[in-house]
Amino acid sequence: MPDIKLPDGSVRSYEQAVTVAEVAASIGAGLARAALAGKVDGKLVDTSYLIETNADLAIITDRDADGLEIIRHSTAHLLAYAVKELFPDAQVTIGPVIENGFYYDFAYKRPFTPEDLAAIEKRMAELAKQDIPVRREVWDRDEAVKFFLAQGEKYKAELIGAIPAGEQVSLYREGDFIDLCRGPHVPTTAKLKVFKLMKVAGAYWRGDHRNEQLQRIYGTAWAKKEDLDAYLHMLEEAEKRDHRRLGKQFDLFHMQDEAPGLVFWHPKGWAIWQEIEQYMRAVYRNNGYQEVRCPQILDRSLWEKSGHWEHYKDNMFTTASENRDYAVKPMNCPGHVQVFNSDLRSYRELPLRYGEFGSCHRNEPTGALHGLMRVRGFVQDDGHIFCTEDQIESEVTAFNALVKKVYADFGFHDVAVKLALRPDSRVGSDEVWDKAEDALRQGLRASGLEWTELPGEGAFYGPKIEFHIKDAIGRSWQCGTMQVDFSMPGRLGAEYVAGNDERKVPVMLHRAILGSLERFIGILIENFAGALPLWLAPVQAVVLNISEKQADYAADVAQKLHAAGFRAEADLRNEKITYKIREHSLNRLPYQLVVGDKEKADGLVAVRTRGGQDLGQMTVEALIERLRGEVAARSGTA
Ligand code: ZN
Repeated sequence: MPDIKLPDGSVRSYEQAVTVAEVAASIGAGLARAALAGKVDGKLVDTSYLIETNADLAIITDRDADGLEIIRHSTAHLLAYAVKELFPDAQVTIGPVIENGFYYDFAYKRPFTPEDLAAIEKRMAELAKQDIPVRREVWDRDEAVKFFLAQGEKYKAELIGAIPAGEQVSLYREGDFIDLCRGPHVPTTAKLKVFKLMKVAGAYWRGDHRNEQLQRIYGTAWAKKEDLDAYLHMLEEAEKRDHRRLGKQFDLFHMQDEAPGLVFWHPKGWAIWQEIEQYMRAVYRNNGYQEVRCPQILDRSLWEKSGHWEHYKDNMFTTASENRDYAVKPMNCPGHVQVFNSDLRSYRELPLRYGEFGSCHRNEPTGALHGLMRVRGFVQDDGHIFCTEDQIESEVTAFNALVKKVYADFGFHDVAVKLALRPDSRVGSDEVWDKAEDALRQGLRASGLEWTELPGEGAFYGPKIEFHIKDAIGRSWQCGTMQVDFSMPGRLGAEYVAGNDERKVPVMLHRAILGSLERFIGILIENFAGALPLWLAPVQAVVLNISEKQADYAADVAQKLHAAGFRAEADLRNEKITYKIREHSLNRLPYQLVVGDKEKADGLVAVRTRGGQDLGQMTVEALIERLRGEVAARSGTA
């Protein structure tokens, strides 16, 4: 006779064991229809799950994040079901949920074509309409292996074979299709109404390029048609704003085969970079950091002591000379500890904050590289704070405030905070991890921030706060971090003299605000669709002469702006003024200054913004005043 407590605190008593679906029905017909799954004492289950003892229950619908996840997972099964109907020789492998959708990997004798995808999607819609029940079955492991082998599904059999012998496995059956799955799933295919197959790509069995090549079909699924439309619209926008395309169009940077994942910055791209670096340099200076610079390659022994050699070796580029092994630094931390260790430190010097525009290299697989967003060589606005345990909270609190201010200056006001907790592969005792995780929670609490926790996603040496900014088309980017590290200073022999003359190991806080400058510039380009705010724009103003007669004057105006500290050019080409204006507008250049005979005679410029706004004539001095104000406010022109 279970008593079931619902999320609103109310308790319902039942005469006998009840299923989640029955509880939903006893509450109301609407909820019974909407129920996709249940959460019993925090665990997600099918609506058919039988509750036999007192429990907390939440009915999961498509309004819950869990519900959307279940819809996506069930749609991945529906995809496999449709593929097996249309291509019975295809073998199924795995089909997980990913951000905004799902994929399923198949082994098939030939590549799936766009026509195949259309046919599969159509078949999925038919199967969904047929309202086919999705049922959980529990099998003996060996029976399941036998079953899938008999079906010719060797991949599935291999997956199940890896589950310990004697254990039971759960399978889900819908119509003739049966798949290994932990679940839960929607009760019937009719719950899957809004989905779309996106593309097919190559993938390897178990992600290993030495294994068989599979075909990965990607799809997206949503609770409502409007959500799917908004998502597709966002993708279209993202395509238009792609920083690789705009980078080329605006002549900012390029990459080439000889240097995978490494950037060649062109003058205009480097102008953006310099502006950001100067800004961040002031942030270091104004917030008690001292800028340092450490070597690019360091002896293997140092990386062994820091733990990188054991936990991070696959990501490091190595080199050798005179029988010594070196690694190109993937992180700046061990270098900063060497600066700390160069002198005997007293507690009076703490917190000691070092900042570096640290150039790092990481051996990312070439297949994972993506423009400026995922590179092999990058520069971090890195910093390390050496402090006492008592100082952690105030340092974390101050950093939280600083991060918010910096993001606002770059035009990002929507920031989500996450706390990534201990991963499986890590250094340090559980006691130390408890202390580090609690210190970060305390700092977040003191800052009055709300956060979500991500178990297993911390760095190998410590937990971290992650700052995710939301861009103009709703995408989220992780940029800033603050990590507490009780391990590395001790491993690298850092210590200070405490008040009682005792030697103590300092705590090390690793922090960055922008993350990688390369990636941050990529994010800026896409966020602003290339129309960077005035202070970041590589060319801030261009002077356009109407005819040859004003060429000298145009060059003169550009020179005056340049002398006032602005990035200005004169476009003296013998082209129609309308042509020049159109071209510079397309290049998203903030200000166009048109000069004809009248402007030249009166010492004026006619000012147009990139948004097509006509600000009329003004003196060069008045213009400089205006630009200075705009740069100081870090605002953008329309
Ligand atoms: Zn670090």
